[in-house]
This record gives sequence, C-alpha cells and structure tokens, in this order.
Amino acid sequence: MRKSLAIIGGGPAGMAAGLYAARMNVPTVLLEKGPLGGQLLNTDLIEDYPGIRSIQGAQLASQMGKHARAFGLEIKEFDSILSVTIDGIWKTVHLESGDELKVPALILATGGIPRKLDVPGELELAGRGVSYCAVCDGAFFKNVPLAVIGGGDAAVEEADFLTRYASEVFIIHRRESFRAQSLLIDRARSNPKIHFIMDAVVRKIIGNGRVNSISYRQGNQEKNLMIGGVFIFVGFLPNSSILPSHAGHDSSGYLRTDSSMRTSLEGVWAVGDVRSQLTRQISTAVGDGTTAAVDVSGWLRTLGPKRSAWK
Ligand code: NAP
Repeated sequence: MRKSLAIIGGGPAGMAAGLYAARMNVPTVLLEKGPLGGQLLNTDLIEDYPGIRSIQGAQLASQMGKHARAFGLEIKEFDSILSVTIDGIWKTVHLESGDELKVPALILATGGIPRKLDVPGELELAGRGVSYCAVCDGAFFKNVPLAVIGGGDAAVEEADFLTRYASEVFIIHRRESFRAQSLLIDRARSNPKIHFIMDAVVRKIIGNGRVNSISYRQGNQEKNLMIGGVFIFVGFLPNSSILPSHAGHDSSGYLRTDSSMRTSLEGVWAVGDVRSQLTRQISTAVGDGTTAAVDVSGWLRTLGPKRSAWK
C-alpha cells in the first residue's frame, strides 16, 4: 500500500486526525493495536463532549470510527506497532504481524495509561466506584464522600474539582509532604470540603459490587474510611517509547510539540494524551488531531510528488 501518512493510535485524537486527513484526500492509514476507541472504551458515560448530551464511551468510539471510514480512511486494527525507525524523510512503522509501512508523515496518537495503585479491589471495582478521571466521572458522585489518592498536581487539583459534587473529599497521600505546587495545595487547604490524610498507604479498596470503603495504614495503625468512590491520581504513563529516544519530551515522558502538533522530529506529529499539555479531554484530543492533519496536508505539498508517498 502506498500512503503518505500513518497515524498510530485509534483513540479520539487518532480518529479525528484520520477523518480530516482522509477528507482532504491525503492517502492515510490508521494503525491500532486493539479495537478502535482508546480511553473511550474505559469510560462508561460521556457527558462533556459538546453537542452530545450523554453517550456511552464505546458508542462514541464506534461512531467516530464509522465517520472516519465514511471519508475513506483505511483502518488496520489488532496489530501491535513494535517500533518506528527513521531514515531521512522516511518513517518505517514495524508491526507485530511482520508488515512494514513506509511514509513521510507520521502522527503519534498513542495516548497513555493512568498508573495503577496496585492494591486489592482496584481492578475488580474499576468503573464501579474506582475512577482515574475526575472530569469524566465526578458528576456521578453527588453528595457522597470521596477519597483521592496521590500527592501530585493531578491529585490536589482534581480533589478540588471533585468538591463541586462530593459531600467531602479525603486526599490520601503516602508522605508528609506534597509533590504538588504550593499554589494548588493552598487552594485545597482553603477548601472546607477537603480533608488531608497524610503519611497513609492505601491497602485495599473494599466493596460488594460497588466501592463502599478503603483501608489504609497510617503509622502502625490500620484504619478504615467509608466513602462512595475512589479517584486514583498516582501518575500517568504516556505511550511515547516507540519513537526514537531523541524525540523531545518533558520530564514525565510526554512529547513536546509546537502549536501545529509538530514534535522535534521532522515529519512526526504528536496528538492527544501522549502530548505534553494542560488537560487530557476528548475535545482537546480531537482538536489536536484536527490541527495535526491540516498541518500534515500542507507539509506534504512542500515535499513534492517524489517524496510525498513511498513507491
Ligand atoms: P506525579 O506528579 O507523578 O505525582 C504522582 C503522585 O502519586 C505523587 O505524589 C506520588 O507520591 C504518588 N504516587 C505514585 N505512586 C504511588 C503509589 N503506588 N501509591 C501511592 N501514591 C503514589 O503525577 P501527576 O500528579 O499525575 O502529574 C503528572 C504531570 O502532569 C506532572 O508533571 C504534573 O506537574 C503535571 N500536571 C500539572 C497540572 C497543572 O499544572 N495544573 C495538573 C495535573 C498534572 P510521591 O510524591 O510520594 O512520589
């Protein structure tokens, strides 16, 4: 197959990039290691995507896929991408199936995964009181006490956000001091709904079909806290490692881009959750994908016909 653009990752950012690229007649293939959807498939109800009052994550994923295909996007699912090598203008994508694809333009939309706490009950109760996204799920926890685990910016900022809904929020952090910026900590301290449980290590998330409490150790004491939900913010792992190591990234591994989503590597764009940015929402991912596709289309024209697709 002769393509000008390969998109790696079939979440909202990748699908939006694919839709726009295909509609602009850029010969494009989207590669996804699993089914289309990315983090959408881990989200039950979505209520914050403009224009759609409420939709299941899996349904939005399916609609985005159909929409992109309708404009001629070629999608290859269930084939893992092992690595990307770069030789001059050409990027070669190596797939687990043994296939190789050579293109001048590459959009990385590989997302990332929330780091897990790794305690009993976490996986079993995921989506039933255990969440990794306050903006997505906070509104489902009205007037109930919540626990937020972690001591970084995300934990402290999201705890503050969750007080819009929760009766009270307990931030449980494993040390005496926070990693989060002092501005965020001061804001949380001045919020009467937020309580701090410091030097405390969560041992177990408990529930019978739905979270009802957590147990934690503080000093040499085992304690229990009754709550209606647990939000875990102990870091996020961007899937950026398939690129060569000299791609510019921040200290957490997120790829740095300019405002056109270009990375430090010529002909490589990064969009969505794998990119260093303020927030990770479906709407921002879709915006990133759109911007990158438009920029790719213009960039390909500057290459001339001989270099705009592998023969
Ligand atoms: P982070 O800064 O890596 O913080 C992770 C927190 O989770 C740390 O407090 C860490 O504890 C704790 N933790 C890690 N593993 C744990 C475990 N197994 N059990 C209990 N606690 C654990 O992650 P983040 O808060 O998601 O932020 C990621 C990046 O995004 C950061 O660069 C951050 O500045 C940025 N960010 C910025 C903003 C903003 O500027 N508004 C908002 C969100 C995120 P220790 O401190 O003890 O290691």
